[in-house]
Amino acid sequence: MASFASISKNNSSTVPTGGGGGGGAAAITTTTTITATTTAAAAASEGGDNWKADLKAPTKDTRIQTRDVTATKGTEFEDYGLKRELLMGIFEKGFEKPSPIQEEAIPKLLLGNNVLARAKNGTGKTAAFIIPVLDKVDVAKQYIQAVILIPTRELALQTSAIVKELGKHIKIEVVATTGGTNLRDDILRLMSPVHVIVGTPGRIDDLAGKNAADLSKVQILIMDEADKLLSPEFLPVVESLVNRCAPTRQLGLFSATYPNAVKAFKEQFMPDCTIINLMEELTLLGITQYYAFVEEKKKVACLHTLFSRLEINQSIIFCQTVSRVELLAKKITDLGYSCFYIHAKMTQQDRNRVFHEFRNGATRHLVTSDLVARGIDIQSVNVVINFDFPKTPETYLHRIGRSGRFGHLGLAVNLITYEDRHNLYTIETALGTEIQPIPATIDRAKYCT
Ligand code: ADP
Repeated sequence: MASFASISKNNSSTVPTGGGGGGGAAAITTTTTITATTTAAAAASEGGDNWKADLKAPTKDTRIQTRDVTATKGTEFEDYGLKRELLMGIFEKGFEKPSPIQEEAIPKLLLGNNVLARAKNGTGKTAAFIIPVLDKVDVAKQYIQAVILIPTRELALQTSAIVKELGKHIKIEVVATTGGTNLRDDILRLMSPVHVIVGTPGRIDDLAGKNAADLSKVQILIMDEADKLLSPEFLPVVESLVNRCAPTRQLGLFSATYPNAVKAFKEQFMPDCTIINLMEELTLLGITQYYAFVEEKKKVACLHTLFSRLEINQSIIFCQTVSRVELLAKKITDLGYSCFYIHAKMTQQDRNRVFHEFRNGATRHLVTSDLVARGIDIQSVNVVINFDFPKTPETYLHRIGRSGRFGHLGLAVNLITYEDRHNLYTIETALGTEIQPIPATIDRAKYCT
């Protein structure tokens, strides 16, 4: 294996601090404001023809996109017979055409089928289930009709925000509810009519157990990161929640990874389901993966070299334990780089603040445990660094999928110690992918456009 020492420390490239373009540093601080025009809303409700022309979509993202999101059959969102107000929300979010998983899953869920869907990270699974949910909900009915289960709190908040964005022209009431927040606030909120609940299983089950959330009329239950939700940690609560829903409820399971755990659940609760599998190959085409062979005690120096050599727009750096997360964040700060850290032992308030600020570009680097390995969508992250190499192929796949969102380009760099070498081989084999030794110079075109 190549030695990382072969990379010269001569800093010939600099981290950009400004400039335009989706891949430039400007993307860190630029947030696009999406404004709905009253004209558009009025045109839609009157059934006017001009509704689409009047919408205000965000600035078009002109970055390269890979076949992971472009290899579609060519259908349009308008082909699905969706509510006009929902189409408005979709186009104002900047979605012009459905991605492959959206093309497959949306019609099936609209038809009422149970769906087990597998598609790569960042290819649009979230909207693939939110769009049918929003189409199915009847806002005239003042009760909970849909539940979206999510394994982590940050992801639940991110998903509920997307439900609100896509549903902004529908008068839909959405509640996001997760552990780590005041239960009483959620109970009070649920005293008013709610159509959709998005949250973590334990909290939703708690609310249902206290009769604060009546799930008996829920017609559609979605599980995002379904394999995680069906792992032993969550399974009993998830089964309890499924049993609380209407007997005719429809199930939609989504993930990029499906270990065997899902099989038993499928046989018991959805033997007739439609299976969608868009993962003949497993890793994203847009992500270039490298490893650097390094001694444990030289990892920080190696990271320093990477910081000075790479054009990092934003990076997520994964460590194996909470204490290593904190220690590394301190070391990075001592080196003079701005960085935040996040892990499951922090208070929810701190977690939310860090996450929000990183998303808004307040800092370039985020050091984390596997808390944000799944689902988190921050388009300006172009580099993922496994400071500690993960133990399983699933974790590896989810971690590196934090860059290269929606078919864009990204870089994954893995620091490999002597002890990791077998694991590197196992993960490469399991995923059918090749993680290359890191070259002395990395072509910016591989991850910066
Ligand atoms: P996944 O759940 O598969 O990991 P996401 O649903 O988080 O992926 O989508 C990744 C990114 O792609 C998000 O930023 C989302 O807004 C964007 N996206 C999703 N669908 C579309 C679409 N049809 N057109 C353009 N961008 C999309």
